[in-house]
Amino acid sequence: MKKILSVILCLTITVVAFSGCDLNNNAAIENKASRSLTALDTIVDLTVYGDNGEEILDYLEKRLNNYENKFSVTIDSSEVSAINSSNGEFVNVSAETYRLVSEAAQISALTDGAFDITVYPIVKEWGFTTGEYNVPESKRIRSLLASVGSEKIQFNSESKGVKLLKGMSIDLGGIAKGYIAMKLTEIMKTEGLSSGLVSLGGNIHALGTKPNGNPWQIAIQHPTQASGYLGVLALTDRAAITSGGYQRYFEQDGEIYQHIIDPKTGAPARSDILSVTVITDNGIMGDAVSTALYVMGSEKALAFLEQHKDLEAVIFTDDERLLISSSLNKDFTPDASFAGYQIVYF
Ligand code: ADP
Ligand code: MG
Repeated sequence: MKKILSVILCLTITVVAFSGCDLNNNAAIENKASRSLTALDTIVDLTVYGDNGEEILDYLEKRLNNYENKFSVTIDSSEVSAINSSNGEFVNVSAETYRLVSEAAQISALTDGAFDITVYPIVKEWGFTTGEYNVPESKRIRSLLASVGSEKIQFNSESKGVKLLKGMSIDLGGIAKGYIAMKLTEIMKTEGLSSGLVSLGGNIHALGTKPNGNPWQIAIQHPTQASGYLGVLALTDRAAITSGGYQRYFEQDGEIYQHIIDPKTGAPARSDILSVTVITDNGIMGDAVSTALYVMGSEKALAFLEQHKDLEAVIFTDDERLLISSSLNKDFTPDASFAGYQIVYF
């Protein structure tokens, strides 16, 4: 099951190699090194251009594994597991884990709770962590909702301490991939590279341009047409992060239940958004906000984006509207099949 899911996840956003584009720089092509692996329950593709590519890939892979071992909610020895099993006590964590948990709590406040890492007990109850799916009784959801709310997390910035109330637990699944993809491009830069790409499930983070100086071309998958695209995005030194209910879900009695939970209801979010891609240089914000916008639905999402002009987005709704930040006018090209659909620049 996991394998199939991973394949689906890797399709959400794709790097497009337009034939010809890369071929004018043979020296750069010889200097290309790339690697595909499975981590964080998804497919990871790393591409670097420059000297010592294989060595740098080894190092990136090592760092990726370190991050997974720190942030994973399913690895017992992770820092997140230590926080979750602290039974109401402060737990001191590394600076990076502290940063992610505290920024996640801030984004929860910013999104009026649409993004909330304390929704984990409910994610678990629905079986999204294990794949043993289950539709919980509403009484059970109501009792679990009582321990949801990032405002209840306590922080000690000096000791890097995090404290949950008894019964609470957190999951960085909606934010960690964006952070890690961003950090891996930073590592590439520190290693002296100026061109590279990290693809971590629905999270793509670009370092610089392609070696020939052109932006990276990223295709955003159509959420309801398996081999179709919403369009192609030109990306330089930024991240494109997609959330959508079509990536990970189960079906029971004719109902589809997808993996993003609305923390207000404790049930899978049912908004009019089928796919949302956030474009930003801040992978943390991009990952968390793409999840939040999906929960909010298009009306609230547009109001949120109006207040946060540093974030750009491409949203596809269930009534087949394609909503695009006007500042992406030059960088996003809707697929030709959208000629008959409603395209709205906001
Ligand atoms: P993915 O890119 O893997 O689909 P997302 O970034 O969209 O993941 O976040 C979904 C994951 O985050 C879920 O698998 C779950 O672990 C967790 N999650 C689900 N709902 C929420 C929410 N409302 N706020 C924060 N995290 C959530
Ligand atoms: Mg996310």
